[in-house]
Amino acid sequence: MSARVLSGKELSATIRGQVTERAAALRAAGTTPRLAVATATDDASSAWYVSSLSRAADRVGITCDVVDLGADADADTIRTALGKLSGQETVHGIILQTPLPPGTALEDLAAEIDPAKDVDGANPLSIGRLVCGLPAYAPATAEAVVAILDHHGIDLEGRHVAVVGRSTVVGKPTAHLLLNRNATVTICHSRTRHLAAVTSRADVLVVAVGKPKMITSEYVLPGAVAIDVGTNPTEDSGLVGDIDAGAVAVRAGALTPVPGGVGPVTTALLLAHTVRAAAR
Ligand code: NAP
Repeated sequence: MSARVLSGKELSATIRGQVTERAAALRAAGTTPRLAVATATDDASSAWYVSSLSRAADRVGITCDVVDLGADADADTIRTALGKLSGQETVHGIILQTPLPPGTALEDLAAEIDPAKDVDGANPLSIGRLVCGLPAYAPATAEAVVAILDHHGIDLEGRHVAVVGRSTVVGKPTAHLLLNRNATVTICHSRTRHLAAVTSRADVLVVAVGKPKMITSEYVLPGAVAIDVGTNPTEDSGLVGDIDAGAVAVRAGALTPVPGGVGPVTTALLLAHTVRAAAR
């Protein structure tokens, strides 16, 4: 048996097509959608991600400004920059890129992003609204997980989903979006005891840990759906997920690839959020 491949490419192309049309209509009406990405790091994989996001924005007709605050920026500098971008009428979406300088926290700094421009759902206000089931921009990666499951017709109602990882950007919001869809959710983390015993009872397993190939077949229920959020750089400039795809593919019923799964849908949703913000 080999797991069905839950590609994100087709869904991503569909979303990007819709974004291109909406961006063109906005430009025709005199508004050029603009996304600002604030960075305060010299991390190489972050730089790679930001430049690929910038190219993707360009292709759909969104202007993307990278605001490099320097790897030594302090919390006040970052807060001031986010406040300034929030006040600029021509900026519609704002992302604060991680990693951030030591001693600063995304959850704290992102509070300076105007919630109407918070296209990656990082402001604690956006996350609070999401938890309450109120309209807000969800973190794009969390929304991408649910979008891929929907796109491939995987029912969530009443099913047991285990989410491994509890970060504010991925694990927690993913768990809450799934809960809002009436899944029964278990959130696992580095202190979870007998992790494989917990995850191998789940109908759907979502992994966002940041450890290459950590999840092997004993963590997976036979026939389960496995969603790999992990994007770990390899020595040959490629990417590998948190799931050991070779081993898990023979046990799972369906599995997202890395690359080509959650990643492209995340990017497409960030762009979709930006045109939505520009249309307001
Ligand atoms: P993170 O902030 O480092 O969080 C990792 C989470 O994994 C933490 O909650 C941690 O638990 C948990 N964890 C670590 N080791 C564990 C273990 N041995 N057993 C169980 N849980 C463990 O990372 P993140 O920002 O959520 O990102 C996770 C992965 O997703 C990374 O590979 C990242 O590159 C990728 N990512 C992908 C996308 C995309 O669009 N595809 C977007 C964002 C991130 P504790 O809380 O107990 O420390």
